[in-house]
Amino acid sequence: MEKKNIDWSNLGFGYVQTDKRYVSTWKDGSWDEGQLIDDPVITMSECACVLQYAQTIFEGIKAYTTVDGKIVTFRPDLNAERFADSAKRMEMPVFPTDRFVDSVKKVVKANESFVPPYGTGATLYIRPYMFGINPVIGVKPAEEFQYRVFTTPVGPYFKGGAKPITIRVSDFDRAAPHGTGHIKAGLNYAMSLHAIVDAHNKGFDENMYLDPQTRTKVEETGGANFLFVTKDNKIVTPKSDSILPSVTRRSLMYVAEHYLGLEVEQREVYFDEVKDFAECGLCGTAAVISPVGKINDHGNEICFPSGMDEMGPTISKLRETLTGIQMGTIEAPEGWIVEID
Ligand SMILES: *Cc1c(COP(=O)(O)O)cnc(C)c1O
Repeated sequence: MEKKNIDWSNLGFGYVQTDKRYVSTWKDGSWDEGQLIDDPVITMSECACVLQYAQTIFEGIKAYTTVDGKIVTFRPDLNAERFADSAKRMEMPVFPTDRFVDSVKKVVKANESFVPPYGTGATLYIRPYMFGINPVIGVKPAEEFQYRVFTTPVGPYFKGGAKPITIRVSDFDRAAPHGTGHIKAGLNYAMSLHAIVDAHNKGFDENMYLDPQTRTKVEETGGANFLFVTKDNKIVTPKSDSILPSVTRRSLMYVAEHYLGLEVEQREVYFDEVKDFAECGLCGTAAVISPVGKINDHGNEICFPSGMDEMGPTISKLRETLTGIQMGTIEAPEGWIVEID
């Protein structure tokens, strides 16, 4: 299979149309058998439920080439389960988890020539999603849905080293108590757009959201979970019902405990204790971990001892270990690496 002529290392994070996508339709109470198609365009009613009432959910997964030339994805079974949880909360039909993993594999296989070669730092980003497509005007769930998967090649997240970022404590919320913060719904992102544009306009890279009920506890950013390192090298991550359970964060916690022998804690994290941590990172599929150097709380700065020039030592070690597991240079726990064949 010949690779596309793409400057992999200089790709950004943008949509590049690839050859094939997968679609399956839910109608009259069941999913059809699904197929790979060529057409990237979706035609739907002007009154489609997704357009009027935002009934849509998604996932994000990466496919990449390992050191021994295999094309693999990372723990897609966890994305499949999370997608099922998202569907239930949004009154959408569950797409069976085995079919989810199978559809992901099929689309990657069909777009193999877009999977970046080992060593480029680039990956093939996979986007499974589902939305209500029939016309809905009185507020209720749709009755017809499309489940789709497309892929797009994306460049290395950090070009020329991972520089720590500066974030601010947001006055906007991303999720309501007992709302939809714990599922991957498009509406959570719609909610966060104004906050992120405002943060960027004020010179910050990201928003730190606090719990909307008491504004005293750390939740997450718009699209990544927090992981903190204490001064005595313990790993701490916030626990809350309105945080999206990141696959990357859960994997990093496992790596910290079982590969690096560190103590790990998932618990409520009060904003007041953040100033006492040694390192701070943001976890998500795209970056694995990106280091946070500074947090601005309404003009008061918290500067982590790891500074603004480089990643702290423990976050760096965690990142190296997990990327090693992903790329096949470090042995992976059973079932983490799923080969596309
Ligand atoms: C997708 C997402 C994450 C990261 O999850 P991963 O499974 O690690 O990619 C974190 N927070 C939010 C709000 C998300 O939507």
